[in-house]
Amino acid sequence: TKGKTRGVESLEKYMHGVDTDLDKNDCSICCEKLSEASSYGEGKAEAHAVVELNRCGHQFHKLCLLEMYHSIHKGGGLQCPSCKTIYGEKTGNCPPGYMQWRLVQDLTLPGYEGCGAILVSYHISPGIQGPDHPSPGHSFTARGFPRQGYLPDCDKGRKVLKLLMEAFQRRLMFTIATSHTTGEANTVTWNEIHHKTEPYGNHSGHGYPDPQYLDNVLMELAAHGVTEDCLR
Ligand code: NAD
Ligand code: ZN
Ligand code: ZN
Repeated sequence: TKGKTRGVESLEKYMHGVDTDLDKNDCSICCEKLSEASSYGEGKAEAHAVVELNRCGHQFHKLCLLEMYHSIHKGGGLQCPSCKTIYGEKTGNCPPGYMQWRLVQDLTLPGYEGCGAILVSYHISPGIQGPDHPSPGHSFTARGFPRQGYLPDCDKGRKVLKLLMEAFQRRLMFTIATSHTTGEANTVTWNEIHHKTEPYGNHSGHGYPDPQYLDNVLMELAAHGVTEDCLR
């Protein structure tokens, strides 16, 4: 498709070619030696081309990296399969919907006695899966929406809010999968960015107090490439 073609052109800026005639290392994508042809390179002129990713320095057959990008790619970014460094902007496949937030001044979250709370809500409706979903053309369900999460209304909580908004915009917040909680397939599920859905207790394990929560969710956001740098 058009999108994919554009993707490959833009990928080139994240890597440079290297000469590996004497290289004994394997390409960790196809498990062949870098000095041999790519498993995906049969009959292709570039079968022996090896590239190094600019920032992390990991090396792969060029064709292996492109093949991986096409088969698992769900957005604009490239992620190093060895160290997970993200190049460009990673986007997800969250189905259409919207996100809202509001301040709840008289709600005090356990562990954040000095401030009020921010209530974040997500609204997603059931629909038909698109080409970037597990079963294109089939329906998907969306249970328990609007779903809500609570943040303390402190500086760090507000920073997390901004990053959650960025993650939602990049379609990273939910995906379509089989729910671990209910076992239902083809349904909208949270996607590795945790929310505190319980304001008053912690019966579900997704409530307060949890002194590590803001740091943990910042790590989860960063793992998707959403960091403070994105807000500049
Ligand atoms: P899932 O069960 O596949 O799990 C995906 C991620 O969500 C995991 O990282 C998990 O740790 C996290 N998670 C699980 N329970 C959570 C909770 N209560 N609050 C915050 N995060 C939670 O994901 P899913 O199918 O999206 O279900 C997660 C939660 O969504 C359920 O526990 C439930 O609270 C809610 N849900 C509600 C309904 C409903 O009809 N009210 C239906 C489905 C899910
Ligand atoms: Zn390879
Ligand atoms: Zn790497």
